[in-house]
Amino acid sequence: MIERSLFSEEHNIFRNSVRKFVEREIVPYHAQWEEDGIVPRELWLKMGAEGLLCCTVPEEYGGLGLDYLFDVIVFEEFWRVGASGPGVMIHTDLVASYILAFGTEEQKRHWLPKMVKGEAIGSLGMTEPHAGSDLKELRTSARRDGDEYVINGQKVFISNGQLCDLIVLSTKTDKDAGAKGITLFIVESARKGFRRGRNLNKLGMKAQDTSELFFDDVRVPASNMLGQEGKGFQQMMTKLAQERLIQSTRSAIIIETMIEWTVDYTSQRKAFGQTVADFQNTQFVLADLKARATMARIFTDRCIELFMQGKLDSVDAAMLKLVNSELHCETADKCLQLHGGWGYMWEYPICRAYADARITKIAAGSVEIMKTIIAREMFKGKRS
Ligand SMILES: Cc1cc2nc3c(=O)[nH]c(=O)nc-3n(C[C@H](O)[C@H](O)[C@H](O)COP(=O)(O)OP(=O)(O)OC[C@H]3O[C@@H](n4cnc5c(N)ncnc54)[C@H](O)[C@@H]3O)c2cc1C
Repeated sequence: MIERSLFSEEHNIFRNSVRKFVEREIVPYHAQWEEDGIVPRELWLKMGAEGLLCCTVPEEYGGLGLDYLFDVIVFEEFWRVGASGPGVMIHTDLVASYILAFGTEEQKRHWLPKMVKGEAIGSLGMTEPHAGSDLKELRTSARRDGDEYVINGQKVFISNGQLCDLIVLSTKTDKDAGAKGITLFIVESARKGFRRGRNLNKLGMKAQDTSELFFDDVRVPASNMLGQEGKGFQQMMTKLAQERLIQSTRSAIIIETMIEWTVDYTSQRKAFGQTVADFQNTQFVLADLKARATMARIFTDRCIELFMQGKLDSVDAAMLKLVNSELHCETADKCLQLHGGWGYMWEYPICRAYADARITKIAAGSVEIMKTIIAREMFKGKRS
């Protein structure tokens, strides 16, 4: 078998400690959090105390200044047990990384230490009821008024929406300028005029709070702008490759886990005087998935490596997300099938994994958008 070569001994030690934390603090409670539709705020403080949040944040901003693989390990260990609840990936990999990349010194000093400790929970507010894939059509407006901006609008499907203390929010500062009119702000949830809507009832990812957010004349100081006016779309595009990489990393580890569960289950389950694993169909289905999971793993780890070298481009990230999210959903379906009726029962992890899988073909850019990105590059300069 081809071994993963990304991780050092130090990473492996860290992985063991994350695994223990997950077994102790998450696994016993996750089913209840799924019923609640949210994880407790105290969990965020525990994760912060354990050093699991925003591992790459430099020491000067209260972090540990570790390499990206430490964040990857945290996410993988959560996903490996199906812990879809804590929205750590959004908090660490997106919100903190936006602030690190585009924030002023003051913004970094204010937010990052709190995010590392789990005292401030981040969310990313891009999608609106009428604008998801086509982000340049967003309508939330930010109008300058002296030293402040006044924000009006609505966001939907926002992960960590019920718990968030800060939102990296995309707005239009110039409604006639298309993508060039988009500007990002950091908006505190304590601001007057901000309101959380429903915690949305989803197919899967049940322990994660995914919400509507409303902004009615929310006033923020101009110093809350993240980056420059009119550069928001460009900023979002530069971060999308990273978001697609981490979503694909999620798929790769869950695909492997689902195959392991199914090998174990079918080796025990009896039918027609033999185990389900004895049927050639079972072996062929799982062998086929295993071969493709191995390809997905190698492609994923290579893209992680490229990302760490600053060389992952948007087309490679799109190809990875396309391949991994499709394999993720196919594996969930085929592995559930091999569990029979028990696979359809919520208490079986494969059932939850099946429900959780579906989002991977939609969020962070749908499979259709991934194909559009790939095809655009393939036909560049060839079509009139
Ligand atoms: C559980 C969950 C969590 C989420 N978390 C967040 C979050 O934290 N922050 C956030 O901002 N957003 C979040 N989202 C939103 C997510 O990113 C969007 O749902 C996604 O971008 C798709 O947008 P849409 O839902 O508006 O679909 P639409 O854009 O309306 O797409 C509908 C269909 O049309 C297809 N389509 C669109 N354009 C094209 C095209 N050019 N060519 C071919 N087909 C096309 C799409 O692929 C899709 O199949 C989340 C969504 C979910 C469900």
